[in-house]
Amino acid sequence: MVSTSMSKYKTSGYKGSCDYGKSDEREGRSCVRYKCGLLNTIQDVLRQRPNWVEVKDDGEWDFNWCDVGWLRENFGHTYMEEHVRINHFRNHYELTRKNLMVKNLKRYQKNLERDMGRVEASRCDFFPCTFALPSEYHLFVEEFNRSPGSTWIMKPVAKSQGKGIFLFRKLKDIMDWKKDGTRSEEQKDFAQVENYVAQRYIEKPYLINGRKFDLRVYVLVTSYVPLKAWLYRDGFARFSGTRFSLSSIDDKYMHLTNVSVQKTAPDYDPEKGCKWQMQQLRRYLTAKHGREMVETLFKEMDNIFVRSLQSVQKVIINDKHCFELYGYDILLDQNLKPWLIEVNASPSHTPSSQEDYEMKCRLLEDTLNVVDMEGRLTGKEKRVGGYDLMWNDGPVYREDVNLQTSGSLCFTANTHLGCVNDREKQLRRLLKPFPYQKKV
Ligand code: ADP
Repeated sequence: MVSTSMSKYKTSGYKGSCDYGKSDEREGRSCVRYKCGLLNTIQDVLRQRPNWVEVKDDGEWDFNWCDVGWLRENFGHTYMEEHVRINHFRNHYELTRKNLMVKNLKRYQKNLERDMGRVEASRCDFFPCTFALPSEYHLFVEEFNRSPGSTWIMKPVAKSQGKGIFLFRKLKDIMDWKKDGTRSEEQKDFAQVENYVAQRYIEKPYLINGRKFDLRVYVLVTSYVPLKAWLYRDGFARFSGTRFSLSSIDDKYMHLTNVSVQKTAPDYDPEKGCKWQMQQLRRYLTAKHGREMVETLFKEMDNIFVRSLQSVQKVIINDKHCFELYGYDILLDQNLKPWLIEVNASPSHTPSSQEDYEMKCRLLEDTLNVVDMEGRLTGKEKRVGGYDLMWNDGPVYREDVNLQTSGSLCFTANTHLGCVNDREKQLRRLLKPFPYQKKV
């Protein structure tokens, strides 16, 4: 819970153009006062939302889409009334910083092994072997020496967009790099920051047209206790523009699939871009490997989302005012096994094309629909627009439970990543009109 003293953003008893009663928190509000710290797609979506009004500077707000910098500085001394919502949990970094994510996953896996046994713990084998440097340097060296010649990737824990990342195969490469003052500015940072992870490089990624890609998937958490998580149907694959090979480990355009990296490649074509929508990828994989294999792959991904959230469930400070839209980065290997690379607390909403813009608008509109400042939902929904409820203090199953030929019931997970996103039709059926629209 946040402190209720020093209330900088008090919302209590506000009367004005947005008139609603004190006791009436969710129903009957005629407008939502929002604050937005970002200047991109989210700003457009908030502006277009019927009867949402932007507040500037220190104005009182009901809804805040802030950046993590704002959160760090303000969360501790912001009073929030019951109905107020903000787009981050206070210590979101437990999942979204590379070293902490791995630390939490390792602990969770160890506890699972102790309580449930090896087989259950092996369900967490979805993150590449990782060490925090410099603190786990000796453990890392032991592991490194066990498989000579393999490739590792070094990543600064608190940077993003591929900054400061490099691949290596020899220990001397990081020794030299630690000491060598002649290296690039990026690499010199190590001596000062020292917080890196060394991670086993996925040497045999799944390739399409010879190119590596990773997946961006969106997961919305509306509560940690109990855990309530939604999976968005849309997402995309980000391709490298250069054919993959392990013979040149210094080529970032070949090995890093971040759009921010690919965009700077000399032969990058902004018209073609480097993305496939998730639906296109799912169709491609189904045509190539058959439905069953692809369903197994997507089930494995569900497992990654749920287990990674469970790994931080006891660590994240649960707060009913908070929700979080995570951007998961998943890499497939040549056996169609999904690997968790990273979870982002502020997935980029900057569009790379018109199609990308429209997808991000849908995603953000539906995020607002789930958060439901307008009080139009019952709270029992299993689907809201493009979001499917994936976990609600336990697995969520589809309504259409299949009766298998054996006669036993087959429960199917309520997730549809990469499936049709007929959100508008669904929303028309589901939602009451916006409160102000009733009056029109
Ligand atoms: P950042 O936060 O800087 O984007 P990531 O951990 O997401 O850092 O890594 C950037 C890119 O590097 C990923 O999108 C992926 O293409 C590649 N990458 C990262 N870790 C691995 C790994 N263990 N094996 C193979 N490729 C990786």
